[in-house]
Amino acid sequence: MAIERTLSIIKPDAVAKNVIGQIYARFEAAGLKIAAARMIHLSRAEAEQFYGVHKERPFFKDLVDFMISGPVMVQVLEGENAILKNRELMGATDPKKAASGTIRADFADSIDANAVHGSDAGETAQVEISFFFPGLNIYAR
Ligand code: UDP
Repeated sequence: MAIERTLSIIKPDAVAKNVIGQIYARFEAAGLKIAAARMIHLSRAEAEQFYGVHKERPFFKDLVDFMISGPVMVQVLEGENAILKNRELMGATDPKKAASGTIRADFADSIDANAVHGSDAGETAQVEISFFFPGLNIYAR
């Protein structure tokens, strides 16, 4: 199976709830390593660029406002099938539809304040990792 890297964000709602550690524990229990991490407070321009693919969607402004409402914790997760594995741990975008035991079912309040982001494919993972970690050094363990 392929060792992959994916970009994960713990969004402002989950950071404010003080559940970074609980979410990290789920990544680790699933066999994903935290290969890089940083906490940042996104500027409006950065959030707009990161979510540029959604700029024509009706929820774009609210999404950007939410993403800049407080600090976020950004990490690169590494492991077998990391992209899909992280998406499975996250659960569906709308926490009401997320399977029980997923991060969004347990920590998210609504479809907009939904606790976590995860890259959805290999190409987006690469773009998103370089967005937050340009020139990243990954340390083998
Ligand atoms: N979003 C929203 N309203 C919607 C759909 C999406 O606020 O009706 C937000 C939500 O925070 C979501 C993000 O936009 O996580 C990106 O949407 P996407 O469809 O890519 O979902 P994801 O990949 O995060 O599950």
